[in-house]
Amino acid sequence: MSTNTFDEILTKIKQYDTIILHRHTSPDPDAIGSQAGLARSLRLAFPAKRILCAGSAVNNLAWINEMDEVQDADYQGALVITTDTANTPRISDQRFKDGAYLIKIDHHPNRDPYGDLSYVDDQAPAASQIVADLIISEKLPLTKEVAAALYAGIVGDTGRFMYPDTSAHTFEVAAILTKTGIDISAIARHIADVSFAQAKLQAACMQVMEVDASGAAMAIISQQTMKELQIDIEQTAVAVGTPGHIKDILAWDVFVEKPDGSYRVHYRSKGPVINQLAEAHDGGGHALASGANAKDLAEVHQIFQELIAVTKKYEAANV
Ligand code: AMP
Repeated sequence: MSTNTFDEILTKIKQYDTIILHRHTSPDPDAIGSQAGLARSLRLAFPAKRILCAGSAVNNLAWINEMDEVQDADYQGALVITTDTANTPRISDQRFKDGAYLIKIDHHPNRDPYGDLSYVDDQAPAASQIVADLIISEKLPLTKEVAAALYAGIVGDTGRFMYPDTSAHTFEVAAILTKTGIDISAIARHIADVSFAQAKLQAACMQVMEVDASGAAMAIISQQTMKELQIDIEQTAVAVGTPGHIKDILAWDVFVEKPDGSYRVHYRSKGPVINQLAEAHDGGGHALASGANAKDLAEVHQIFQELIAVTKKYEAANV
């Protein structure tokens, strides 16, 4: 649960002239939405402060927000706030270390409790929901532009209000955001729509998918497939949720091959807890959605065997 209060966070915010917001690498809508929503609200609340969004370019998420040019000198005496980022190695742009004070706002299990202040609620389905709560409870500006970013984050991380950590409070927050006049259909479409090449990637993923009798499944997206479809690694995210549409699949791994032959691993589940598996492979995340890394095909197969074991155990406990 949370370690500090919203009041304490706002008190700190008021003390700094420059505030730089960071989020995690390989960003998703919640990373960009929570960062942008907070930045936009703070800019309106404190027009005299410099509020900057740091991190790698976002390409396919530029419709939510684009990053600012942040110079090394900007970190001098600055307050740095990270959103949606569980551990320091995953903070996009490691210059976050150069600030004067660090605040963590997150919804992942707090395995790496970094920061001088933090607000961590691992029951919240999205970091954007926490940022919305902060804005609402501290009476910070909540315009359409602020709400659009936060709503995108919530829609993204709840799978459009489907995943089990979606709560009545999530809908309360969504209702408040909706009342600002945001276009909820356009935002949902932005998140759900795929390019023709991405749809072909989803199909390719289905073609190679292996399904175990336990309900565990795995698919490998190779560099060759990505090259054939002219898809970059960021765009492969659309294939990660696809196996979940299949009724009998309970938990699955999607392995995306990197140019160096190692693999980015995406774990997803409808019940079996998978974050401990991810933690054993240079990763982590939520109980039902985690990420990790595999150095080669041998580790890929080992990871799948571990997933099968956890899925079997879950099945046995739930008959
Ligand atoms: P992904 O499969 O990349 O969409 O990630 C699913 C969830 O796991 C997200 O909440 C990520 O922030 C988290 N995650 C992904 N990779 C890692 C990692 N290497 N270490 C810790 N958490 C991760």
